[in-house]
Amino acid sequence: MKIEFFRHNIAQEDIDRVNEVLRSIFLTTGEVVSGFENLFSQYIGTRHAVGLTSCTAALHLSLISLGIGPGDEVITTPMSFCATSNAVMHAGARPVFVDVEEETGNLNAELIERAITDKTRAIIPVHLYGQMCDMKRIKAIADKHKLRVIEDAAHSIESSRDGFRVGELADAACFSFYATKNITSGEGGALTTGSKDLAERIRMLRLHGIDKGAADRYTKRYEHWDMPLLGWKYNMDNIQAALLIGQLGRIEELLARRESLSNEYEDALRDIKGIRFLKTLPGVRHARHLFTVLVDSSIRDEILWALQRRDIGVAVNYRPIHLLKYYRETFGFREGAYPVAEDIGSRTISLPFHTFLTSDQIEYVAQALREELAH
Ligand SMILES: *Cc1c(COP(=O)(O)O)cnc(C)c1O
Repeated sequence: MKIEFFRHNIAQEDIDRVNEVLRSIFLTTGEVVSGFENLFSQYIGTRHAVGLTSCTAALHLSLISLGIGPGDEVITTPMSFCATSNAVMHAGARPVFVDVEEETGNLNAELIERAITDKTRAIIPVHLYGQMCDMKRIKAIADKHKLRVIEDAAHSIESSRDGFRVGELADAACFSFYATKNITSGEGGALTTGSKDLAERIRMLRLHGIDKGAADRYTKRYEHWDMPLLGWKYNMDNIQAALLIGQLGRIEELLARRESLSNEYEDALRDIKGIRFLKTLPGVRHARHLFTVLVDSSIRDEILWALQRRDIGVAVNYRPIHLLKYYRETFGFREGAYPVAEDIGSRTISLPFHTFLTSDQIEYVAQALREELAH
C-alpha cells in the first residue's frame, strides 16, 4: 500500500470553473478575483480581502505597507516555515525570534515582552498546524507597546480562538493557497484586513504600484494610468481564483472530514508507547492543517526513513528557522537559542493527512509506527 502525504481536493466543479475562465478573454486579475475576494472576506468575517500570488507576498506587502523596514525589528517564531522570517528580511527588517509553548508549538506570549526593544515594530504570530496563537494576549501586548500585528494564517483559514476569528485582532492576516494547504490553487495567497486604507495600498502594491488594475486598463475604455508607488508583481489571476471559489464553498465540509480523520488518528495511536501529541487548547477551533506526532529525538530520523521505506509519505514541520544555514550564518544562531522550538523540531513527524485518507490507511500507518517503535 502506498500512502500519499497529501492529496488536494479539486472537484469537477472547480475544473469547470477554470475551463470557463480559459474560454474567456481575460485570464489575469479581474472579476473572478474580485468574486473570490468577496467570498473570502465574507468567510473570514473581515471587511477586505486582497488576492495575491502567495502568503509570502502577503507577509511582505503587509510589512511594507505598515511602514516596516530597515532598522526595525519584528518578533516572530522559529517554529514555522522559513517564508515567515524571509518576508521580514525582504522588507529589510530584522526578525527577532521568541521561543514557543511546549504544549502547542505556538509563539509563547509570555516571552514576547522581554524581546521588545525600542526598535520593535511588529509581531508576526504563526498559527501552527491550524491552532490559533493566544491572540487576545498578543494583541494586548501589541497595544501596550504600540506594535503592529500581522498573522501568518497559512495553516488556519478556518480557525478561531476565544470567540475571535483568525485575523480579527490583527492589522493584517496572511493566507496561503500553496499546493498542500487546506484549499489550493497550486500557488496563491490572500491578505485580509479591516482597514480600507491598507487594503487599497496593498491592491496597488500587488501590481507595480499602479493606480488602475489590468481590468480597468483593458476591459473598459482605455484610460491613462499612473504609478504613485513602487510596487511588486504579486497579483492573483482569474485562473487561480476560479480554482479556489468552489473549494472555499466546501471548506467547512473539508474541515469536518479532516477533524474526523484526526480523531481517528489519535484513537489509533494513543496506546503506542513513545508517541505524544501536541495539545489543542480549550476555546480553540483548530483548522486541522497537518497531523503531527512527537517521538524521541534519538529515533525520529530512523522512524522517518522507515515509514518512507514502507511507502508512507512523511514530512517534518518544522526544523526551526534559526538553525537553517542562512540564519545561522547571518545572525550567528547556535543550538540552544530556542530550546522548546528545537525540541519540537527534533521530535516531530507529520503523517499523511488529507481528505481522501481512509480508515484502513490510518490503521496501516498506526501499525507501521507500532512496529517501528517496538524495535
Ligand atoms: C506555506 C506557508 C507559508 C508560505 O506560503 P506561500 O503561499 O507558499 O508563500 C508561510 N507560512 C507558513 C506557516 C506556511 O506553512
